[in-house]
Amino acid sequence: EIFHDVDMGEIIMGNITLSRYTRPTPVQKHAIPIIKSKRDLMACAQTGSGKTAAFLLPVLSQIYTEGYGRRKQYPISLVLAPTRELALQIYDEARKFAYRSHVRPCVVYGGADIGQQIRDLERGCHLLVATPGRLVDMMERGKIGLDYCNYLVLDEADRMLDMGFEPQIRRIVEQDTMPPKGIRQTMMFSATFPKEIQILARDFLEDYIFLAV
Ligand code: AMP
Repeated sequence: EIFHDVDMGEIIMGNITLSRYTRPTPVQKHAIPIIKSKRDLMACAQTGSGKTAAFLLPVLSQIYTEGYGRRKQYPISLVLAPTRELALQIYDEARKFAYRSHVRPCVVYGGADIGQQIRDLERGCHLLVATPGRLVDMMERGKIGLDYCNYLVLDEADRMLDMGFEPQIRRIVEQDTMPPKGIRQTMMFSATFPKEIQILARDFLEDYIFLAV
């Protein structure tokens, strides 16, 4: 099986080839068609499984298909990640797959100059990768709007809860301006599936598909 089983458009296909990904990993093989079919997803997958591309490829391909133009500070998709390191990894992978397209990924995380991150967002942002604390800070300063966030990904959800980010995550996802579940498409990735993650999945996901790889 190769990536061509699911049509993700020329730009994505070209960038997959440039990345030298020849065959999908198991989580990619199963998650990509589910996400492309617009279903919410709860996926149990470890680091190193290729989960980043499993959500970035179909989400970016949707953004291309829907043909969004330049956007200002109102991302169409949001990826929440527990740490600066993971956020930067996701951002780097998003830049690879957005190459030669008009789609602009941005990244914001704590412990770095917020002014510079705000100026970067002001240049336009389609896909925002963020750590929860810094995103709440930006929201409170009125520097980011999630009104058009049609795609929401929670990556390493169990780690985010272990780090005490549940209040910030709920602030972000349950705010009035965020499109509600069932309207937005939501994807959660977690290495484990304890009670707290099941509750989050119940609250954030609509009629979701459960995938364990
Ligand atoms: P992840 O689990 O998303 O952190 O990915 C782990 C590593 O595998 C990253 O360095 C990816 O660039 C790489 N990777 C992901 N998918 C593939 C693929 N289909 N073929 C080759 N390498 C991949």
